[in-house]
Amino acid sequence: MKKRDKTNGNMIELRESTIQGCGVYAIVNIKKGKRIIEYTGERITPEEENLRYDDETMEKHHTFLFAVDEYTTIDAGVNGNEARFINHSCDPNCESVDEDGYIFIEAMKNIKKGEELTYDYAYENDEPVTQKLLDRYPCYCGASKCRGTILMIYPESDDGLIN
Ligand SMILES: [Zn+2]
Repeated sequence: MKKRDKTNGNMIELRESTIQGCGVYAIVNIKKGKRIIEYTGERITPEEENLRYDDETMEKHHTFLFAVDEYTTIDAGVNGNEARFINHSCDPNCESVDEDGYIFIEAMKNIKKGEELTYDYAYENDEPVTQKLLDRYPCYCGASKCRGTILMIYPESDDGLIN
């Protein structure tokens, strides 16, 4: 059963992306702070997620998953909407907002008609950060401050960056 999303009223469309695959583009100017779309999909447990998807055997990470917290993951491969096509960027124009466990994508900048929407996936990973791991989660966002991976990498020491 597909629920009609009321938040995306003609603000976005799917197009081939310069970052990768299919992307989501603004078809109108979108103001900073505007809620654009809910990240919908089936809500599953991390155990179910592991049963469905095995990162180790996948050549490239390509599932539509959003980890809400340690108990819930949204699998947008099931009943997902356009939000699952929003690409990652290390210098994004959108952010994901958690409202009582429901995820919404909101504009964190003024976005011009025709711009691709992006947010920082900031994937958490328990494994130690190795080159192999980084290769599994590459980033092609092209931002000048691209960190080269969609994983969240925390600085090991205080280097003055604001976390
Ligand atoms: Zn990047």
